This record gives sequence, structure tokens and C-alpha cells, in this order.
Amino acid sequence: MSAKQILKTRIIVGMEIHVQLRTQTKMFCGCGLSFDAPPNSHVCPVCLGHPGTLPVINKQALRFAILAGLAMNCRIASYTKWDRKNYFYPDLPKNYQVSQYDLPICGEGHFDLPSETDPQTIRIRRAHLEEDAGKNIHDTGAHTLVDLNRAGTPLLEIVTEPDIHSAADAYAFCAELHRLVTYIGISDANMQMGQMRFEPNVNVEITHREGLSKTPIAEIKNLNSFRSVKNAIDYEAQRQIAAWEANPGYELGQAANENRGWNDDRGVTEFQRTKEAAHDYRYLPDPDLVPVTISETMMKEIRTDLPELPIARRKRFVSDLQLSSKDAETIVDHRATADLFEDAIEAGGPTDMLSKQMINIWLSLANDRQTDIANLGVSAAGIAELAGITDRGDINKSAAKQIAEAMLSDKQSPRELAKHLGLVQVKDTAATQAWVQQAIDNNAPAVQDVLSNPKKAKAAVGFLRGQVMRISGGQADPKLVGELIEKLLTPKPD
Ligand code: ZN
Ligand code: MN
Repeated sequence: MSAKQILKTRIIVGMEIHVQLRTQTKMFCGCGLSFDAPPNSHVCPVCLGHPGTLPVINKQALRFAILAGLAMNCRIASYTKWDRKNYFYPDLPKNYQVSQYDLPICGEGHFDLPSETDPQTIRIRRAHLEEDAGKNIHDTGAHTLVDLNRAGTPLLEIVTEPDIHSAADAYAFCAELHRLVTYIGISDANMQMGQMRFEPNVNVEITHREGLSKTPIAEIKNLNSFRSVKNAIDYEAQRQIAAWEANPGYELGQAANENRGWNDDRGVTEFQRTKEAAHDYRYLPDPDLVPVTISETMMKEIRTDLPELPIARRKRFVSDLQLSSKDAETIVDHRATADLFEDAIEAGGPTDMLSKQMINIWLSLANDRQTDIANLGVSAAGIAELAGITDRGDINKSAAKQIAEAMLSDKQSPRELAKHLGLVQVKDTAATQAWVQQAIDNNAPAVQDVLSNPKKAKAAVGFLRGQVMRISGGQADPKLVGELIEKLLTPKPD
């Protein structure tokens, strides 16, 4: 037997993504959505699948699905229907899931993944509405318990064409899609709470001495972080290549496609089962649900709800506001943050200082408090004023941070706070020179280093500047201080 000689490999990935919609109630009944309510407290005869009950379509879920479809450039169906996907499992009380089979609400679309080096288009095959199942709870001793609070929760399932060719691109795509669904407000997409779940379909195209082969497709189920998407694809591609080398007949169409799970602790994918073909689910149109026609008026209305999308907004921040692409990415990442930033510009804040303070001050304050900037309770006008007085040199940068922190609990304006906290920058040369002289008099060793130890001179100047800032109670202008230290410590010519 001759060893197979691999010349080249190419990963092929298509994604399936389930997004939980941010509706008040479930897909086909009036039960509220809940994550941690007591088991089986958000259920009713409809979502429990009692005989004789009739489902009613959640109109908000329908609108959210259309909004997502428009954001992904999908063809929106004017006529869409509901199908039963039949399978038996304890967390599925009706023994079928209501989904959409041949007439999904969103048809072909595309999603442009921006990248400075390698921009690409990921085609969307379809996106359809369906209901979630309940949860089986296995960790309660000898019995498995069933909680049906989640049963009937509206999901949007998005399916891409196999247009992704690296684990890193899959990561980028999932992150961009996550940003998109939160931006348009159709989902909170909290991944710890399972509100966005990723299922990559992975196989590998192998170029070898005898020609071209493809490995069977593995669908990796239920990933709930971008990192696990990346790691699982990387692992799975290597596993398939090794399997192809070792086993004759391990080829697409010859060996079965399979479902695999990701074991994050061990860093491996694990076999679950070979994959059913679609007909195993015995899809059939749901006789209890009427098909939906989507009118032009409804489409127009929903289109007006579509905000500027994150990719376009990033581009605009770079081209129109001259932000670096990294800063634009940081600010645009969260819609409320970007909105506040633009409101602050409108309120007269200087763009450059604003973008710096958004990231270095406001975002860091929000992160410390594990919240978003929009929830800090500061106004766009306040943010704009703080950037304005920093930009003019009325306060220095470290004072700006102190004032920002005070703004979280004090309703005074940044200008008033600067006065009350004694942080208005002193530009008076005589006063500053006195502070500098005091620092020089008190720190002979540092002065010695500045004057006669070139290796330590720079650090010593920094130390002295810090001493001046301390003596001045933060009111000195760091730039002026630097100039004065240099002037006072330059040896005078004879
Ligand atoms: Zn219900
Ligand atoms: Mn699904």
C-alpha cells in the first residue's frame, strides 16, 4: 500500500446559526420567555402540546425575521408557511418541532465580511423561523427531569453556503453576525444563556497525487462561543485529514456524514451519530397554522426600522470622522456606545479627543462596572464638555479621568467639577516654576541623575514630573512642567 501524498488542503465550512429572538412571548402562545424561572413555570396547553389547542403566530417574531433578512440582503418571501419536523425526544412535548421547510421566510442573501487584506462575501442560503425545544436535566441523580420553559421560544435559524475557508474566518463571521443581530435589536444574543448557538458543517478538500478528494461532512453541534467555533473547526479539519490518510473509503459520498460534539476540556470533537437525511424527519405542512403573506406595506414599514449596520458605520467613522480602524471597531462594537459618541459630536465635542476618551475613559469605567457606557447615566452633553475642556487644556488628561468618575455620581457639569475638585489646570508659569523648584530641591538624587547619568536621565525626568504633579495637586500643566524641568536642569554655559 502506498502512502497517500497530500499536496494541498482546503477547509470548507458552512454555518448554521440559531438566534433566539427578543420577543415578549413565545413563538405560538402567550407564555413569556424566561431563562432562570422555576422549571415549568412558563408553560401553557399550547407549548405543552395538549391535544385540541391551536397555535397563534407571534407577529413580532415575524417582523424580527424580516428585519434580519433585510440586513443580510436576503430575498424576503411574500408567501411563507409552517412545517412540522417530526422526531421523538422527551424535551419536545408535541413530538414535532414547528419549523419552515421549503418556503422559508428569508431566501438567498449575502453578508460581506470586511477585512483589509482579504474581504469576502459569505452567501446566505436561507433563514427561517422555528420554535426551540425544552431542556432535559440529567444531573439530578437517577432520573432525568424535563423543563419546558424554553419549549416554543422563537428562533431564527440562519444557514450559510459553504463559503468559509478557515477557522479564523469562521470566528470573524460569527462575531460579525453577533454584532449584526444585536445592532438591529432582534436578539440579546447572550451566548452564556444559549441565545446564539453555532453549528459549523466542516469538511476538507484534499489535493493529492492521484487527484482531488473530499472528506465526509461533520456537523459540530451547539457551540456557544466564537473561540469554540474556531478551535472545533481547526481540530475537526486535522482529524478529517488524518482519517483520510489512514482509511481508504473515507470520502464524501462513500462514508457517512456525521454529527459531532465539541469537548472543550479535552479540545476534541466527539462522534455523536451519523446524520439523518432530511426525509427522516417526515416534514409535513402544519395544518394548524395558516401560511403568511407579507405585504409590500409591511415590508416598507420594517425597512424603515433598519439602522445603519455596523460594517457601514465603521467605514463611515474611518472615512468621515478620521478614526483609526481599530478605534472605529471598538466604538461601533456596541450600538448604544456609538450612538452616544455621535450625539456627543453633535453636542459640540471635538471628535479626536472624544474618541480617545470614549475608549480610554468611558469604556474602561463601564468595563470596571461590568456594564455599557450607555448605562453609566452620563449625558452626551457631559461627555462632549469633558472632551472639550481637555482638548483646550483647561484640565489635563489624568484630571479628565477623575472628573469622569465624579460625573457618575455627581450631576454637576465637568467644568464645575473641575473647579470644585481643584483640577483646573494652572498655566501660570511663575506658580508652576515654584512647584518645579520645590521638586528639584527635595529630590537631589534624581537631579543628579538628570545632570550626569545619561542612562537614568529620562526616568529621572519622569520621576520629577510626577513629583511636580503631586505637589500641585494635579493642577500643573504636564507640558509646561516638562519644559521647565528641562530649562532649570540644563547646565548653564559659563
Ligand atoms: Zn405556552
Ligand atoms: Mn434548527
